[in-house]
Amino acid sequence: AHLDRIDAVDPVVHAFLHVGADEALEAARKVDADRAAGTEASALAGVPLALKDVFATSDMPTTVGSKMLEGWRPPYEATVTRKLREAGVVVLGKTNMDEFAMGSSTENSAYGPTRNPWDTTRIPGGSGGGSSASLAAFQAPLAIGTDTGGSIRQPGAVTGTVGVKPTYGGVSRYGLVAFSSSLDQGGPCARTVLDAALLHEVIGGRDPMDSTSIDAPVPPVVDAARHGANGDLNGVRIGVVREFAGEGYQPGVERSFQAAVRQLTDLGAEVVEVSCPNFDYALGAYYLIAPSEASSNLARFDAMRYGLRVGDDGSRSAEQVMSLTREAGFGAEVKRRIMLGTYALSSGYYDAYYGSAQKVRTLITRDFAAAFEQVDVLVSPTTPTTAFPIGERVDDPMAMYLNDLCTIPSNLAGNAAMSVPCGLSDEDGLPVGLQIMAPATADDRLYRVGAAYE
Ligand code: GLN
Repeated sequence: AHLDRIDAVDPVVHAFLHVGADEALEAARKVDADRAAGTEASALAGVPLALKDVFATSDMPTTVGSKMLEGWRPPYEATVTRKLREAGVVVLGKTNMDEFAMGSSTENSAYGPTRNPWDTTRIPGGSGGGSSASLAAFQAPLAIGTDTGGSIRQPGAVTGTVGVKPTYGGVSRYGLVAFSSSLDQGGPCARTVLDAALLHEVIGGRDPMDSTSIDAPVPPVVDAARHGANGDLNGVRIGVVREFAGEGYQPGVERSFQAAVRQLTDLGAEVVEVSCPNFDYALGAYYLIAPSEASSNLARFDAMRYGLRVGDDGSRSAEQVMSLTREAGFGAEVKRRIMLGTYALSSGYYDAYYGSAQKVRTLITRDFAAAFEQVDVLVSPTTPTTAFPIGERVDDPMAMYLNDLCTIPSNLAGNAAMSVPCGLSDEDGLPVGLQIMAPATADDRLYRVGAAYE
């Protein structure tokens, strides 16, 4: 049924870069056989899933939305992919994304934009727009994204779906094509908080193949979602971050958020205002740190080891082939990030840019620590605006970067954060997201509050 639905709507939505129909049907048949034999792999066995095209899959291409890796078939599987298969989850295909996960609208994909199922003239968010759009268009009930600065939560918000960025290190990065290694985090996308929790438990946990993976059990997210579903938030302390208020927000988003805060209070939570003064600098710090790490990570696309190779006709030096390949293989935003990052890391500028950004990162982590002494979770709108029209911000990188205002602090601190649907804006009728933020390793708090609110 999901493959039929993809056939019917994906010509318009374009959530998928690759659909592995045969592989999916084969995986589903295996689950049927296991079920008949009484050896069902997990609670999610047989459930279809859309996988962001940033995770290595040995039976499907992995392009990261880039011409650089067009048609590349990895010789190995990401840990997330392997865990999904072991749990009997049926991978339907690979979803569209901004090239190398750099963007907030999926317009930076080398394979054309994804459209928001709520209004197909609008963006579905990014970088994981394909994953969230596939949920909103009922092409898949579950999806996987990655969140470096908001790429799970922001698409979740603008498509009216749930997206979770687990604590940094909570889900293995092995086999995840690297953008900014100290920020990248895979996580679950779904239409309900409980579905996201079930998926989180499948993909989470310690992985010896990822040196930054946390050596601790997955937080009890499914129990927390079930507990939260009773709708009782008595005794839960919730903070509203003062610095996130006001400027730059659409009034409709602001009103939806205020209604959410009233609802949380009605459910028994104690809501207070808290101050995180350094959050004002988070966006600036992120757009130095992420490009710096990207400039280093993307050096591996040298025309020799992976994917594209241009101009290798025997007449050119290796350096010329590298240069021609990178010129042809990377899109404009990726080149912009490589240049920004190389500049920020260069001798003479390193201390002023990269060094300062790292200090700001520490201050933001301290702001969170102080806030979490007063409250259990923090809340904010996930994004300042609802889905904007395709094309509106493509020529204005600053306007694009401003989407990430509220999501970035949790990436810089390595905390857990979630976006849950927060109704429709009374301005344009489009979905709004409520962001919930919890301390590192306390992901279960997101699920309790999210399930109670939803
Ligand atoms: N929009 C942010 C960026 O362009 C976040 C991307 C992400 O989380 N992968 O960097």
